[in-house]
Amino acid sequence: MAGLNMTDVDLVALGNAEFLELWEHGYRLHPLDRALLAIRTSLPPGATTDEPVADWPLGRRNRALAQVRMLYFGPRLEGWTVCPQCGEKLEFEVDCAAIAATPLPEMERRVSARGGVYRLPTSRDLALVAGEADAERAALQLLERCTLERNMTGEGDSLTPAAIDEIAARMAEADPIAEITLGFECPVCSRASQEVLDLAVFLWSEIESRARRLLSEVHALAAAYGWTEAAILGMSELRRATYLRMVEA
Ligand SMILES: [Zn+2]
Repeated sequence: MAGLNMTDVDLVALGNAEFLELWEHGYRLHPLDRALLAIRTSLPPGATTDEPVADWPLGRRNRALAQVRMLYFGPRLEGWTVCPQCGEKLEFEVDCAAIAATPLPEMERRVSARGGVYRLPTSRDLALVAGEADAERAALQLLERCTLERNMTGEGDSLTPAAIDEIAARMAEADPIAEITLGFECPVCSRASQEVLDLAVFLWSEIESRARRLLSEVHALAAAYGWTEAAILGMSELRRATYLRMVEA
């Protein structure tokens, strides 16, 4: 059977009961695996992908995560961070619709730099280096995993930091949303800073709050009326909210 390409598949929102199952199954997983689970469970019934979600280049994964995010929370993602210099709260807003509309990385999925050829990193690659605490060593291990052809320029086996930077820059050109970098300028101390938005972590924290909100609504209505969890989760948002207001009144 020919696999469907994600460009042709619209992800679908889960019902409330399935949404709670997603949260439950993801609860003890690593953030990388939670992200993959959220994507897999949002594929339309019967849909298959041309390759396992874990083997998608990160931009393709982020694109799908932005789609999942829009299903439940809309396109406007708002968050905040702090200024590394003075601690001022810095707010940001990201348009998930723009991320979801980013063209998929070139089918080639390989970049040439410094005489070597490298493929674009995937979630599986990231997972395999996730245990390495040292960022430089992790970057090096990631590159080694992604090396298709070594450089023949006689630079030796060890990649210099400058070479790693250059290869990373080529990868970022080929897959621009593999890493979503936000730029800030502090209104208080004018310090410019950058931060990477980890869409997988951000989305999961939203999934977590929504799951807890659903459960607290089930709790309140079940305690007041004796209805089953399934009955309460099956109600429309509007009906549940209306009953909740009556219970609270
Ligand atoms: Zn500042």
